[in-house]
Formats: sequence, C-alpha cells, structure tokens
Amino acid sequence: MPLVFLPHNLDASVDKLPDVGPTNAKRLSKLGIESIRDLLLTLPFGWQTYGDPADVAGLRDGQQATVVGVIAHISARQSLRQRMRLTEATIRDDRGASLRLVWFNQQFVARQLSKGDRIAVAGVAKTGRYADGLQMQNPYYEKLNAEEDAQPTKVGGMMPKYHLVDGLTSRKVARWVASALPLADQLEDLVPEDIRERHRLLGIAEAVRRGHKPETDADFREATRRMDFAELFELQTAFALMRSRMAAEPAPPIPFRQAIGDAFKVGLGFELTNAQRRACRQAFNDMQGPSPMNRLLNGDVGSGKTAVAAACAAMVHAAGMQTAVMAPTDILARQHYGKFRAYLESTFPDLRVELMVGSQSAAERHHSQLGAASGHCALLVGTHALIEDGVQFANLGLVVVDEQHRFGIHQRELLRGKGHVSPHFLAMTATPIPRTLALALYGEMVMSVIDELPPGRMPVATEVIDRDARKHAYDLVRREVLAGHQAFVICPLIDQSEAIAVRSATAEAERLQREIFPEFRLDLIHGRLKDKEQVMQRFAAGETQVLVATAVVEVGVDVPNATVMMIEGADRFGLAQLHQFRGRVGRGQSKSYCLLLTDDDSKSVFDRLNLLTQINNGFKLAEEDLRLRGIGELIGQRQHGRRTDLAMRVLLKPELLDEAHAAAQRFLESDPGLTGNPPLKSRVDALLEQVAIS
Ligand code: ADP
Ligand code: MG
Repeated sequence: MPLVFLPHNLDASVDKLPDVGPTNAKRLSKLGIESIRDLLLTLPFGWQTYGDPADVAGLRDGQQATVVGVIAHISARQSLRQRMRLTEATIRDDRGASLRLVWFNQQFVARQLSKGDRIAVAGVAKTGRYADGLQMQNPYYEKLNAEEDAQPTKVGGMMPKYHLVDGLTSRKVARWVASALPLADQLEDLVPEDIRERHRLLGIAEAVRRGHKPETDADFREATRRMDFAELFELQTAFALMRSRMAAEPAPPIPFRQAIGDAFKVGLGFELTNAQRRACRQAFNDMQGPSPMNRLLNGDVGSGKTAVAAACAAMVHAAGMQTAVMAPTDILARQHYGKFRAYLESTFPDLRVELMVGSQSAAERHHSQLGAASGHCALLVGTHALIEDGVQFANLGLVVVDEQHRFGIHQRELLRGKGHVSPHFLAMTATPIPRTLALALYGEMVMSVIDELPPGRMPVATEVIDRDARKHAYDLVRREVLAGHQAFVICPLIDQSEAIAVRSATAEAERLQREIFPEFRLDLIHGRLKDKEQVMQRFAAGETQVLVATAVVEVGVDVPNATVMMIEGADRFGLAQLHQFRGRVGRGQSKSYCLLLTDDDSKSVFDRLNLLTQINNGFKLAEEDLRLRGIGELIGQRQHGRRTDLAMRVLLKPELLDEAHAAAQRFLESDPGLTGNPPLKSRVDALLEQVAIS
C-alpha cells in the first residue's frame, strides 16, 4: 500500500484511509468510529481461534474449528415460517467424513457456492437437537482452488472479531486498521506513567498494536487489559468529579419521621418486603443529609419499587416539600398516578397527587401546573418531558424517575428553577444491574437492590417451543383469549435495522390475523408508530386481544388481564431481556404463560432458553447470560456497544475495576482540577457531558 496516501493526522476522518470511502465511513460511524484515532482505539472484542483445518471425524460438540472439504450437496429453501431463508449444505472432508452446514438469511451463499466446490469453513461445530451428527451454523467460508493441497488464507486460523453493522466484515475492518497502524505512535496516553507502572499496563501505542495484531493470546489479553483499564479509569475519574460536585450542592434535608413511616405502612394494605424496607431506610437516610440523594433503585419487575418511592414522597411531604415522578410514557404515567394515589391519599388526605401528561386537556394540564407552582400539589406525576415543559415547582424536594437511569446536570438545573437547592433524586429500573456493573456504568449513583418479590406471586409457566410445536403455542393463545384473557406476541430481534424489524412485525401481524386468529382483534405496535399510546391504551382497556410488538417497544404497562407472552425468535434475545418480557404477564390473579419460540434446534440454544423455565430471578438470569456469552454461546450477530462490552468484561474481571477506581481516587487527590493532564481532562469533560445529557 503506497504510504503517500496515508493521512498524517489521527483526527482525519476514516474515509481518508485507502479504500474506506464514504459508504463505509458512514457504517463505521454507526459504531462510533469517526476518526482514524477512533478506529485505532477500537480493538476487536475477541479473536476466534479456529486453528488449522481439522478432521470432521475428530470434532467435538462446541469446538471452534476450520474444516476443508468438497460440497456434496447444497440447496436453499424457505423455512416453515416464511421469515427465515435457509441455505443447507453438506461437505465431505478428505477422509470421507461429512459435516452439515446451515446459513440463515444469507441467500447469496447458495449463489456463490455449488456442488463439487472445494471450500474451507470456520465456525462452531454443534450437535443438533434432533438430527444426528455435527453441524455448523452460519460458518465463515472461503472457496478454494480445486487442488487437494490448497489451503485457506481468509478463514480459519486466528480471526479478529470486530463490532459490525450491515455491510462491514471483520476482515474489511482489519484491513483498514492495518493501514492506520503506522500512526499508532502519535496516540496520546491518557493514563499517567506512574499509574501505568504501578498497575503494570502497556503504553497506548503498544496496546493498540498488540490488540489489533496479537501474536499470542497473552498479547491480546495484555492489550485489552490496558484499554479496559484506561476506559474505566476515565469513567471513574469522571464519576468521582461528578460526585464531589454534587456533594457540594445544597439539598433540602428531609428529616426522618417515624410516625410518617408507620402511617404509610398501615395505609398500604400489604406488608412491605424486607428488601423494600431496606431500600426505604437507605433512601430516608440519604435524604436527611445536606447534599442531594442520588440513588438507583434496582429491582425485578413487580418487586414493588413504586411503594418505596411513595414512602419517600410521604417523608418529603411531611417536610413541607414536593415530589415529581416521571415515567417514560403517558400511559405509564397514568398507571403510576393511580398507584401513588392508592398508596398515599387515604392516609395523608392533604397530600394531593396530580397528573400531567400530553393526552390531557389544556385545562387539566393548566390546573396541574398551577398546583405545582403554588405548592398545593404535593406530588406531580408526568412523563420525562415534564421538566422540559417548564413546569415550575414551589419547593421541589424529590425527583423520582422510572426507567431512565440517569439524571444529568442539565435536567437538575432545569428543575432547580428559582429555588436554591437541588432536589433529591431516585431512579428506578427493572434492568438487573449487578453491583460491579452499576459501579462501572453508573458510578455517580449509589444503588439499592430489591431482590425479593412480594409473597404469593404465581410463577409464570414458561416453555421452550420448537418449530414443530408452534401449533401448540397458537392453541394456548386461543384458549386463553377465548377464556377472556389477552396475549402479547413479541417479534424477533432483527439485527441493526429497525426498518426491517417493522416490516417483519407488520407482516407477522397480518399473517396471524389472516391465517391463525381471524376471529380475534389484533393490533400492532412498533417504534415507528405515531399513535403508540392509543394502541397501548386499546390493549390495556381490553379492546384488542392480541398485541404484536417489536422488541424495541417498551410494553412496560400493567395489563393484569394479559396471560400469555409469546416470544418469536427467542434465541436471539438475552435471558435477562426475555425475563423482562415475561414480567409483563402474571400480574393478575390468573395463571400466566411465557412461550419461547425458536427455530434453532441446537442443544445449546435449548439449554440456554430452558434456564428460563427454572430460574425466576432477573439478577441470576443476567449472570447466566454473561457466563454464556462469555463462552460465545450467543447466537446471531447481535450488535453490541463498546460500553456494554466493557461492562461484560468488568463483570469477569472485577479487580480491574477496583484498581481503576482506586487509581482515579488517588489521581484526583493529587490533581483535583486535572490540570497536569490536558488530554485526560478533555476526555473526562466529554464523559461528564454525556452523563449530563443521558
Ligand atoms: P415494580 O417494581 O415493577 O414497579 P410495582 O411497584 O408496580 O412493581 O408493584 C407491583 C405490584 O405489587 C403492585 O400491584 C403493588 O401494589 C404490589 N406490591 C408491591 N409491594 C408489595 C408487597 N410488599 N406485598 C404485596 N404486594 C405488593
Ligand atoms: Mg414499575
């Protein structure tokens, strides 16, 4: 490659590199890679070690391998479900042993390969659940010359795995990286030298070179350790700065009053669980302090987070201050409004709860606005837009935010309004975030975990359903709907493109209506729909019986009458996410069902999904997910962000987080303004800005 074409500037756009071009630059930009620096700093997330071509006869279940053979048969067909296109082939190696190959939705494979071709494939050999023998799903492949001794040059051996979007391959990315690598020496090191020495970390240039082109596994481990450390160090420095800034902000101290807590409990009508009590105590304790509480309330779906928030609101009210509660959608805000009233109004008659959402009349909104401004309204429930709409509070003491983890500096300022103090802040999330992960991702907050469900919940009967038992799933839906209940159908996660997801969900809804459930009222909801709220409302009101949804849609509403959650392409979801979907049913008195449909008949997929039939705890499932993902069990080419990736690695190496945390703490003590390290300062400022707006 002629060096003259190589730009000399790390800040140059990636399309300045040989044969990247504007189209690929746009693709890379979806992965957060804009400049050559970004490209260099984005190491592969792993390496696939397929090794030299192996004998089929010697393969074990689960082995990553390269195999060379001649195609004995190849054909393409539609799967039963229309949606999947399968290309199936068999190859025979030099010793006559054969291996089955399957590609999903890659029609071009059948066009590129034909019977008699000699090819190399690299992938994971697995035992099918029904068929005998091993097969590889979606293997990489390379057409070889016909000669017996032709060896693969593109697949097999050690192949880097980069994060991808449609149109990119790891091979392409590796080529671009190789052309940029000579610039690595210009990278500035954000980790100070004494810290690198103390923690035995590679310098940045060396880490980048070894990470993209390792000679051994150890090289790659050293490189990622260094890069992970740096990222954690930057984040922990940013969090530490944010915490110290917040600690310097004045907040209204909310005294703890035993009588209020007691009255609240009596008025509830149920006993708080131990976990709820603990979370209440922690929050009360924070709010007594002179600086704002910043707490994340993390509890499984249905664990009763709302009651904890309501207890806090009661305490705030007793101190003469107001609470704002924000939910992601109008309909969820309405549901919260109902719950807060039920928990608080009869016990505390002067605690007025008001609602403010877009779907109200102007007069109603105006009324709520006045209540907030005058202080008559003690608790205002609305959507996240509430603060942007310029609602003024007479004296806001607490902000509760549901399903949005962060509350940035910007929002804080908006809410502080004319007041001089910052309100306390309580975030609620049903996403199970293990403690280490929370420290890595939300280090500016402290966390309360509600790891206990209220007693007496009926577990949701969960079943894994393969393609032959699909009718059984439809029968169950029909039986439940005929009994007066309702059902959700979640469409599979489709890689990268929301447009494709929408198309497939639309087609599926039409098909179900036409062929399977002509007698029922179906509805469809997806991210691009304008009247999502109305669709949800109709379902919540029982006007529609089956709701087909894409995975991106937050169906987090309480519809106690819904008893079936049917999930298509369940193998494409993480366990924790499937558990979230499952939490949408089983909210009423009737027995509920979760049906996990999959066309993938490999044993590993079945085993993974089957965990959901045994485990009913979101945190445990999240751990299982991580364990399984760690050994590359995750099917399909799901797109991961760098942050989630880092988070996964942190879970496996918590000691690295501890080290970075301590290093950040020490570093800030010696240089609180980061004046001695301008590149680190600008990086940390950028991170604080992200935290502020997220
Ligand atoms: P989530 O944590 O998912 O937001 P909710 O606060 O909506 O859960 O509570 C789910 C349901 O459980 C509600 O109907 C609520 O009234 C009920 N609930 C909450 N806590 C308890 C408890 N300790 N005992 C019995 N029922 C409870
Ligand atoms: Mg909730």
